[in-house]
Amino acid sequence: MISVDAAREWILRDVVPGKHETVPLLQALGKILAEPVVAPLSLPPFDNSAMDGFAVRVADLEGAAPEAPLTLPIAMEVAAGSRAHHPLEPGTACRIMTGSPIPPGADAVVKLEDVRESGGWVSFARPVAVGHHIRPAGEDLRQGERLLEPGVELTPARIALLAGIGKSEVQVHAAPRVAILTTGDELVPPGTPLRPGQIYDSNTYAMAAMVAEAGGIPVPLGVIKDDRDETRRLLEEAASYDVVLTSGGVSMGSYDYVGETLREQGILHFDRVAQQPGKPFTYATLGGKPVFALPGNPVSTMVCFEIYVRPALRRMRGHRHWDRVRMQVTMRDSFSKKPGRQTFLRAIVERTPDGAAACLAGAQGSAILSSMARANALLIVPAEVSRLEVGQQVEALALSSLDREGAC
Ligand code: AMP
Ligand code: MG
Repeated sequence: MISVDAAREWILRDVVPGKHETVPLLQALGKILAEPVVAPLSLPPFDNSAMDGFAVRVADLEGAAPEAPLTLPIAMEVAAGSRAHHPLEPGTACRIMTGSPIPPGADAVVKLEDVRESGGWVSFARPVAVGHHIRPAGEDLRQGERLLEPGVELTPARIALLAGIGKSEVQVHAAPRVAILTTGDELVPPGTPLRPGQIYDSNTYAMAAMVAEAGGIPVPLGVIKDDRDETRRLLEEAASYDVVLTSGGVSMGSYDYVGETLREQGILHFDRVAQQPGKPFTYATLGGKPVFALPGNPVSTMVCFEIYVRPALRRMRGHRHWDRVRMQVTMRDSFSKKPGRQTFLRAIVERTPDGAAACLAGAQGSAILSSMARANALLIVPAEVSRLEVGQQVEALALSSLDREGAC
């Protein structure tokens, strides 16, 4: 049986970032940049005013004082979007708006609140320093400067920066299209009545949500009946997508045909991992596409997705960082297990004045979804450890923002 670390390394070595595509800037949010971005111009492109007021020559205001103001004629005006057609003559002032180009000859701006204006004249009650309220060309960024590296996520501010340098579209990594299949004769879709022996299919919804959250495009293809031919047919159809994700049908049961099909039709890399929950996690290649066959118990499905599929999808999307935040937390509950398998515990992690602390989110059976829904973290208990005591430090994987909710 392979270890969790070896399984992760295997998968992350296999998957590669997806092909590049060009998207309009308005569709770029959350995508991963696939090209370096170099500034084609300086920003701001010209010296401009930081205030509404008057552009002046500093030398003209020397000696101005509240008791002896200096008054200049308003000889010109520059509105935003226009520019001065001749230099500012000595002994005159130019009305100027925020963002307007500074006229040649002017070397400072006095804001409107600091002047008195009447009948085409403006008076100044104090001198001004060179450059005052002028935003010099290139103070934000310089032409030729490298602004963004491939692999960064396009946030609102980065999209604004791209628009600010005149880019209307950007190269990003294509999001992987993920075929989702779940298996089992007992499953019915939510929204329909349950007959005896049936349960609702929750894994399709868990997987679709997790794929979308990891930046992939979920394509649910439905429920496979526990039937050898149907399993084969639907898996082959699924292999026309970039990634295949299945749940169930990989345990030791009589009707578990997913593992068998992958072994016969594709390349089965491994089908057991030394972990709890999620031991039957299976990784294969079918038609050249990665197949993640997750065990069917709802928590096993979700934990295996977290540990293996989410990092793989993020790597395929072009992310440079594919892991969740990991941190050390102090146990508030004790826990015992048999040594041998790395164990993931559903937990609620809280910030305290003494650092982060964790309590268990409830019962830990691999079919117990309610504790998974309560958890904001998975605690990672190493394979060889058999007991965690209250007060002991353990590593935690943050599933969501710790500020959001949850209290022990
Ligand atoms: P399997 O791996 O197919 O043996 O399934 C293990 C357990 O998970 C069984 O109790 C199944 O009923 C349950 N299960 C499998 N698939 C789903 C699903 N899509 N939604 C909810 N439970 C499931
Ligand atoms: Mg089944």
